[in-house]
Amino acid sequence: MGLLTEGTPLSWEETKKYADHVRRHGIRQFIALHDGLKDRKNDGLKWGEEIEYILVHFDDANRRARVALRAVDILPKLMQAEKEAAMNGDEHPSLPSLWRPEYAAYMVEGTPGQPYGSEPSDWSEVEANMRARRKEVQALLPEGEAVLSISAFPRTGCSDFTFPPSVPTPKDGISRSLWFPDAAIFPDHPRFSTLNRNAVQRSGQRALINLPLFKDERTPSPFHEDFSALGDEGEAKAAAKDDHIYMDAMGFGTGCCCLQVTFQASDLEEARLLYDELLVLCPLMLSLTSAAPIFRGMLSDHDCRWEVISCASDDRTAEEKGLQPLKNDRYRIPKSRYDSVDCYISPLSEQYNDTELLVDEDLLKVMLDAGIDRQLARHVAHLFIRDPLSLFAEQVNQDDEHGTDHFENLQSTNWQTMRFKPPPPNSSIGWRVEFRPMETQLTDFENAAFSVFIVLLTRVILTYKLNLLIPLSKVDENMQQAMKRDSAKEGRFYFRKDILTGPTTRPFYEKWFGLGKHEYTKMSLNDIFNGVENEFPGLIPLVEDYLKDLHLDVHTSCTLHRYLRFISLKASGELQTTASWMRDFVRSHPDYKQDSVVSEEINYDLMKTCQKIGNEEIQEPKLSTQHEVMRKNSKGEGVKQIFCL
Ligand code: ADP
Ligand code: MG
Ligand code: MG
Ligand code: MG
Ligand code: MG
Repeated sequence: MGLLTEGTPLSWEETKKYADHVRRHGIRQFIALHDGLKDRKNDGLKWGEEIEYILVHFDDANRRARVALRAVDILPKLMQAEKEAAMNGDEHPSLPSLWRPEYAAYMVEGTPGQPYGSEPSDWSEVEANMRARRKEVQALLPEGEAVLSISAFPRTGCSDFTFPPSVPTPKDGISRSLWFPDAAIFPDHPRFSTLNRNAVQRSGQRALINLPLFKDERTPSPFHEDFSALGDEGEAKAAAKDDHIYMDAMGFGTGCCCLQVTFQASDLEEARLLYDELLVLCPLMLSLTSAAPIFRGMLSDHDCRWEVISCASDDRTAEEKGLQPLKNDRYRIPKSRYDSVDCYISPLSEQYNDTELLVDEDLLKVMLDAGIDRQLARHVAHLFIRDPLSLFAEQVNQDDEHGTDHFENLQSTNWQTMRFKPPPPNSSIGWRVEFRPMETQLTDFENAAFSVFIVLLTRVILTYKLNLLIPLSKVDENMQQAMKRDSAKEGRFYFRKDILTGPTTRPFYEKWFGLGKHEYTKMSLNDIFNGVENEFPGLIPLVEDYLKDLHLDVHTSCTLHRYLRFISLKASGELQTTASWMRDFVRSHPDYKQDSVVSEEINYDLMKTCQKIGNEEIQEPKLSTQHEVMRKNSKGEGVKQIFCL
């Protein structure tokens, strides 16, 4: 998203009144955009990543770490050069990085200044750019504060978790949370507080999140909390489940960080194909990158932020959730607007859409009548079952032939694992897809490795004409699997057995065909990524084959192979996921009482360690050593191997 549109947000009642207006005009805008750009061809590969960061304040004397509500001070500085260029009419200045506010007052989001191109030699710049971005933020922070690429702050919602201190306001304000203060929402842009306020007002209640608690030796059983002292008037008591970490604010989810990657496809068809193929990989990459095992100061039994943010952003009413008979609302809606993808969109994938898709039938007809094909029209008609969650007064009336704000309004508040991004009007940008499930890793090396790996997979998918498709219901099952504790190591995921359908590669890989009549089976991430001899080629060996044909220079080749080795070791379990490492860190901390609680002191030590790892002051060999790993040799003996050239 560009510089965020600013304006005067309407109240929820007014926004609601305009819901049909926004949807009708949004569809007209999509049709105009599609008509004008559907034949756009031959765009080259461009891509870029987004990293969200958390700002942390350290109180070394008292061994406390808190989130620093500092974004509002540093963002104007981070964005200054871009704003100045825009005032001089330069919308695409050549800057090393671009910065955006995010939901929380303790977050910032950074991207490279320009997208990367199609040359792998450019891609070895990614890590350096990430490193420079980290330094850029760090340089603006006062002594004692740090920028961390953690996915979730472990003690969000615990008493006094912000600096400067702030208090929650359960009886009024935006979140009405028992724990998450409105002061922790980014104050200088109305988007975030408006989305939050309207989600609460629309659904008629606070956010409702119950995350399974990790039950340790001395965790009370059942684990049951009393919220009355916090000002609960019954809502929390009724909503909270025993043996769960109950949370009640959007900020518990939207205050978490992710790593996203956006690609430009050569044309509309390629974008649709990539969207479908990549969406199968979303649960797998969520599992491999899982990095959020602690919420509200407690160890969770899951490893990811995903389900927290999904529940946190759920604006469905009781009727829509199926808890009350439908009276005022239009549909029963099975999922939150922040959730996994609900349909494949390429014409080739139709047979794999095996889940029921809720669509706005009237808008679907408008699109079909305008000549948009069924698969794509259904995708958009599904996004448009939602209400707009915010509307600015200045935006209400638009020229549908040229504007896209109403379309973007609904598009940008459907937060799914993938996003299909049409070209902005009057721009040089083509059809794009965004890969959105990954959690941020502690180091720039790791974040670069995961981003570049996804780009490489897109090349392999297109070049070798891979077919990764499985029924969508199985992708959803994989998503549930991915969130579970240690899924990267222990989990089994549905995956397609015969993925090499391309005419060019088929003879070469002939030995892997004929695996039986079922198209898919359950595999470990190790099998999927590293392959199984004579049975399954593995995604990483396929990428390696692809790289062999490129005749890369030594530097690029080393960089890309380092990334592949890293991912290979993550998939094999020889390297831990960030979540699993954090869980071990807590459980082996001398202050830990085996009661699931992540105390101030443990959190301080964890955050300090994350800071040092992120700054490359120390290496954590269990997570991402670039130097030495223990591997088993053919005799099963442990040998040290150095794998960075
Ligand atoms: P959003 O928040 O809507 O996903 P951002 O603007 O924050 O979008 O991030 C978009 C990403 O896409 C950035 O990494 C940017 O470098 C990259 N990008 C920009 N232009 C293109 C393009 N033409 N093709 C692909 N990616 C692009
Ligand atoms: Mg962004
Ligand atoms: Mg965004
Ligand atoms: Mg973001
Ligand atoms: Mg994004």
